[in-house]
Amino acid sequence: MSWVRRLGLSSRLALVIAALALVALGTASWLLVRLSTNLAMQAQREQGGALLQSLAPSCARALAVNDLARLDDLLAETVLEVRPSWTRILYVEAYDASGRPLLRAGDGGDLARGADRLLDPSFLDCALRTDAACWQHAHDPGGASLLFLSTPANSGLRWGTLVAALDLQAFEGSSQQWARKALAFIVVLAMALYLITWFGLSRMVIAPLSRLAHAAQRMAGGDLGVRVQLERSDELGQLGSVFDSMAERLQAHTAELEHKVAERSARIRRQNEELERVNANLAGINAQLERLATTDALTGLHNRRYLQQALEFEIARGQRAEHPFCLLMMDIDHFKRVNDTYGHAVGDRVLVQVATVLQENLRNIDLRARWGGEEFVALLLDSQRDAGLQTAEKIRAVLEQTEIHAGLDEPVRVTISIGVACSPADGVEEHKLFAHADAALYRAKEGGRNRVEG
Ligand code: GH3
Ligand code: MG
Ligand code: MG
Repeated sequence: MSWVRRLGLSSRLALVIAALALVALGTASWLLVRLSTNLAMQAQREQGGALLQSLAPSCARALAVNDLARLDDLLAETVLEVRPSWTRILYVEAYDASGRPLLRAGDGGDLARGADRLLDPSFLDCALRTDAACWQHAHDPGGASLLFLSTPANSGLRWGTLVAALDLQAFEGSSQQWARKALAFIVVLAMALYLITWFGLSRMVIAPLSRLAHAAQRMAGGDLGVRVQLERSDELGQLGSVFDSMAERLQAHTAELEHKVAERSARIRRQNEELERVNANLAGINAQLERLATTDALTGLHNRRYLQQALEFEIARGQRAEHPFCLLMMDIDHFKRVNDTYGHAVGDRVLVQVATVLQENLRNIDLRARWGGEEFVALLLDSQRDAGLQTAEKIRAVLEQTEIHAGLDEPVRVTISIGVACSPADGVEEHKLFAHADAALYRAKEGGRNRVEG
């Protein structure tokens, strides 16, 4: 019965009430019809019996004197007598004391003609041989209902027996009509009771349960402001108020939690912002430190450490694939004289100017560094020897032409000697390249300075 399981509580309740109402209605109707039919039948028997008994003494006297004409009259009068509140008499028969039929008065038509065939032998036996009033209820083959009654015809002695056949059709018709009316009344009553019960139960149970279910559903969907507010003091009312107070506490608890979460989120946000600020500062400081660690303070060029690392990287790169590069080792000529002649500050100014010449005359991808004192090193990336020598010569020539204004009356001029080593031709290891560049620089110095050797 899966369809029953799919029904809501109210539909199931309606079904149960309807089933109960049907059973109650059926039982009540059956009992009522049965009872009323029995009562009416009993009334028929009593009335018929009383009639026969009132007739019995006169008929007994007629039988006693064997006055059959008088007997016939008596019986005919009885049959013809109009009794609106009663049923129709089909015929009345008289039997003599030995049980022989004497007379029959009445016109029962087909029914009357066939009625005696319906007489049960036990009824006749009771009627003719006992002193009791007897009766029998029978149906003819057409379904019509008949009632047979008998009474002894006594007048001092028993002179015979009277038997009457009553047609119950009219009686049954009216009793069925009555039963139908009663049934209709019961149906209306049952419907009214059903509706009253249904509305009562609906108001008392279904409606509050629906409100509870609806509220629980909304709460499950996140609406914590929902309340049932059942204004009643029974168990459902208690359930409703427990639900409401639970919802109240849950709402308050959730609001408190949300408040705490918001507070903590704001605090974490502030801490994160602070952390980001500190991180940004640290990144700046690190960048500055990195720059300081790899930059020469006086000239702004990279320092020796940085260039050595870059050289190591370039050598490693060159080992994986063909990456030619040149190393320029540069040394200012007679720099000691500059210091000695103009002072250390002018010497510094000259160092800065040499760095500027290197900045301006090398490609962006090339690396340049102050190697120490008045020595500089440049790393010309992706350059063959020819390019390396040309670049060295260019630097040498530019510096030779450069007038260095160091706040003196006349500009200072310096020259530079350059030794060039190129990888991989002059070696692929750092010490070999430096040795080659050193040797070339030495040759440049020996050869008269202001020269490039490679
Ligand atoms: P050469 O042509 O043989 O290289 O002669 P030189 O005088 O340049 O060589 P030397 O090694 O004799 O002298 C280098 C001088 O450079 C000595 C030193 O005082 C000077 N010097 C080194 N570092 C600095 C510096 O940072 N500033 C200044 N002003 N002078 C420096
Ligand atoms: Mg030197
Ligand atoms: Mg020098």
